[in-house]
Amino acid sequence: MSQKVTVSVPNIGDATDVEVIEVLVAKGDRVEAEDSLITLESDKASMEIPAPEAGVVDDIFVKVGDKVSEGTAILSLDVETVSGTTEKASEATPASTSSPVSSTASSSDGDGDTAQNERVEVLVIGGGPGGYTAAFRAADLGKEVVLVERYDQLGGVCLNVGCIPSKALLHVAHSIEEAAELADSGVAFNSPEIGLAKAPQHKEKVVGQLTGGLAALAKKRKVRVIQGRATLSSANSVLVEQGEESTVIHFEQAIIAAGSHNTQIPGFPYDDPRLIDSTGALALQDIPKRMLVIGGGIIGLEMANVYSALGTSVTVVELANSLIPGCDPDLVKPLQQRISTQYENIFLQSKVTRIEPEEHGLKVWFEGDKTPEHDTFDRVLLAVGRRPNGLSMGAEAGGVHVDEQGFIPVDRQQRTNVPHIFAVGDIVGQPMLAHKATHEAKVAAEVIAGHKAFFDARVIPSVAYTQPEIAWAGLTETQAKGEGVAYEKASFPWAASGRSLSMGRKDGLTKVLYDPETRVILGVGIVGSQAGELIAEAALAIEMGADTEDLALTINSDRKSTRLNSS
Ligand SMILES: Cc1cc2nc3c(=O)[nH]c(=O)nc-3n(C[C@H](O)[C@H](O)[C@H](O)COP(=O)(O)OP(=O)(O)OC[C@H]3O[C@@H](n4cnc5c(N)ncnc54)[C@H](O)[C@@H]3O)c2cc1C
Repeated sequence: MSQKVTVSVPNIGDATDVEVIEVLVAKGDRVEAEDSLITLESDKASMEIPAPEAGVVDDIFVKVGDKVSEGTAILSLDVETVSGTTEKASEATPASTSSPVSSTASSSDGDGDTAQNERVEVLVIGGGPGGYTAAFRAADLGKEVVLVERYDQLGGVCLNVGCIPSKALLHVAHSIEEAAELADSGVAFNSPEIGLAKAPQHKEKVVGQLTGGLAALAKKRKVRVIQGRATLSSANSVLVEQGEESTVIHFEQAIIAAGSHNTQIPGFPYDDPRLIDSTGALALQDIPKRMLVIGGGIIGLEMANVYSALGTSVTVVELANSLIPGCDPDLVKPLQQRISTQYENIFLQSKVTRIEPEEHGLKVWFEGDKTPEHDTFDRVLLAVGRRPNGLSMGAEAGGVHVDEQGFIPVDRQQRTNVPHIFAVGDIVGQPMLAHKATHEAKVAAEVIAGHKAFFDARVIPSVAYTQPEIAWAGLTETQAKGEGVAYEKASFPWAASGRSLSMGRKDGLTKVLYDPETRVILGVGIVGSQAGELIAEAALAIEMGADTEDLALTINSDRKSTRLNSS
């Protein structure tokens, strides 16, 4: 026997009139309990509405573009009944088959605490780009996966307090700068009015959409997300703690993707809210009059760009003899020239030795040829790099080797020294970049699923989303000189690029390093507007083993050909 059941939009918080962006089933489809039926997208998040029970779709009442609220009928299901009673999937299907965790039982975890005991094929620690990508890929390849994340939102540093919010704020900053530069073309705008209550909303909206989307994607793949802090308790188990509650999860294989944290310099007054890190800077609580940025690397300079555009007078202090240490000086030069005219000071080969809180600001002592002995700032941003989280994972209990800095060494299949435990992302080494983390994550998940996958990418592009942008992929000149690698170079200054000049900018440069014998491209560096987009083609060229002729013979749209292929 069967009976028709109308499925309606359940409680979706205070959201009303939410748009249907996807209908995931068709008439006649058989769905299981918890299968997703439709996707909704509000201004805060996207969410999927699951089937409350198993059945066959009899009719669908909504379509893409419709607006729905709690109680709106979505579809009707033909549901099998047993002895005249609806067979509710949640009752008929044991938890062990609908959940990726295959058993639950109470037991002592050995510390005397009572902990739930669970078992899963693949356990992923950390919900950042490395963790969620690994979890999704492993699930797509048929594995039952549990993902443990200590915070209540997926996305890790990148989505919550890193790449995405910084790029959202940089978009605002660059728009302000570009609008001001239009004055040279005869279009003048009034000075921007910065609504501090509203300015962070754009950033928060973007972050909310992305992190909400991840939760929906996890659900769709039946990846069970557990909120809690995971530490390895043995080579096959983790203890997950959240408040008073704890769970021991036994795994067949695990992927550690626990990321990194901001580095601190000992002795600074961290309890003073005027001393902030990148997370504090992204919160954009106010626009300080004078800000000191300690660290002239990518993160420090991106944040300096945001605050300077919003009206803060910025000073940067960097220990090395150039900004963005590791990047070729000729690529950094156009950026340095530009910001030298915008910022109050840029001190190279200098350091901060002491910071003391005073009523009217943070008093900072410097050491360096051109620095004052001390100065007082409204805000000090510490951006001196990030440290991996390997030392706080209980790695020793699992027998996983962690080096003294906190990195977990892995092989080209992302395996740690314990063959069934893998690690990906910031925790395994430099460069600490989200796209490296996701690439490694796919490798780890594929190896776990039995594929012969390896991390054998030739290049991992780096981009500073400053104004101008700086991007490079593959061999740098600094590296070539340091390691004695033979190379030749072709350079193209953008002062001769029509596209660049038409944008009112001539401060760009493209250079291509190639093997003198084979002319195979070894590395590309670009500085200029949208360098971060242009580098993608260079990365592809190097990955494909292209030589200079391949590049020269590639017909490209005007904007790219003048700034990439002519070099
Ligand atoms: C301001 C800023 C801007 C950036 N901009 C860029 C950019 O433009 N492009 C780019 O490629 N990269 C950028 N990055 C770097 C990028 O954010 C990282 O490389 C990326 O997030 C690394 O991903 P991951 O998965 O290894 O680690 P993370 O993103 O750090 O995620 C690790 C997750 O693990 C969780 N976790 C840690 N320990 C535990 C535990 N014991 N139990 C449970 N969960 C745990 C953490 O809460 C976190 O959610 C930026 C970083 C910052 C700070």
